[in-house]
Amino acid sequence: MQKNILLKDLTTFKIGGVAKYYCQASSQEEIIEAVKWVQEKGAPFFVLGGGSNVLIGDKKYKGLVIQIKNQILKIKNTDQNSKIIEVGAGVPLGKLVGVALQEGLTGMEWAMGIPGTAGGAVYGNTGAFGQSMGDIVEEVEAIDISNIKYQISNIKKEGCKFGYRDSIFKRSKNLIILSVKIKLQNGEKAEIENKMKEFFQKKKQTQPLEFFSAGSIFKNGENYKAADLIEKVGLKGKRIGGVEVSQKHSNFIVNNGRGKARDVKKLIDLIKKQVKKKFNMELQEEIQYLGF
Ligand SMILES: Cc1cc2nc3c(=O)[nH]c(=O)nc-3n(C[C@H](O)[C@H](O)[C@H](O)COP(=O)(O)OP(=O)(O)OC[C@H]3O[C@@H](n4cnc5c(N)ncnc54)[C@H](O)[C@@H]3O)c2cc1C
Repeated sequence: MQKNILLKDLTTFKIGGVAKYYCQASSQEEIIEAVKWVQEKGAPFFVLGGGSNVLIGDKKYKGLVIQIKNQILKIKNTDQNSKIIEVGAGVPLGKLVGVALQEGLTGMEWAMGIPGTAGGAVYGNTGAFGQSMGDIVEEVEAIDISNIKYQISNIKKEGCKFGYRDSIFKRSKNLIILSVKIKLQNGEKAEIENKMKEFFQKKKQTQPLEFFSAGSIFKNGENYKAADLIEKVGLKGKRIGGVEVSQKHSNFIVNNGRGKARDVKKLIDLIKKQVKKKFNMELQEEIQYLGF
């Protein structure tokens, strides 16, 4: 257990204040131990993966940040056409993409270039180019922290209730993802590599990957893209303090390195207000808040 850790260094946004307590947990036992410790203290806690979809407040967080580091990675043959990869929730998504390529497995080319961990990707049903984590998940192993038994559940795909940037894990808040089994099909290595390159190229052309950000701030709707609405209300490039609505992709807010969470929140509130006023629509955040 460490004290007074600066959280901005643990995020891709490079924004966030100090956490009173911080620990890394690499196994079921370590996660449960950390949760028990903080629950006995009566303090709040937050589960952090790669910190690539969070906005962390500037003020001191008086609880415990548990960063999931479970790094197991096992590949199993299922049948002639596919393989199951079992990964710890703390495994970087990029590593998983690399393993898929190495093994000649198709199904996660879309994830090329997306930061974060396998656990975070399951939680938010991360996706791109019309595909998402939910398409390849077979089963998720999670710890139920709603009571002191800390039971382990193996939740099949259907039980995960994946929707657009949504899952049972996001809704319940009582489930900490420990590991994930994903199923990928055998494919042609060269084809997989080309597809990955193509997707990544598209991402680089349309997203401000060269700046600190937390990815898309808002969810898209069934009939609209958040970026289009933000542009239509004239907020593309709008700057407050050290942060601005990206010139390249209006659903990204970028930080010049000196940005504060309060400035990001002001921009978010301004965007929501203007979109509501002009289109009578309520934009919903895709990012998760800590310390607000
Ligand atoms: C440049 C850039 C590009 C991006 N592109 C995309 C994209 O194309 N598509 C897309 O969908 N997203 C994208 N994102 C957003 C982000 O990368 C994904 O949402 C990612 O999967 C988040 O994973 P993480 O480990 O960083 O989660 P974190 O940011 O650490 O956490 C996000 C949420 O997940 C919860 N969580 C994390 N791990 C666990 C766990 N083990 N158990 C329970 N809850 C957990 C946290 O409590 C938090 O509420 C992008 C982000 C950036 C910065």
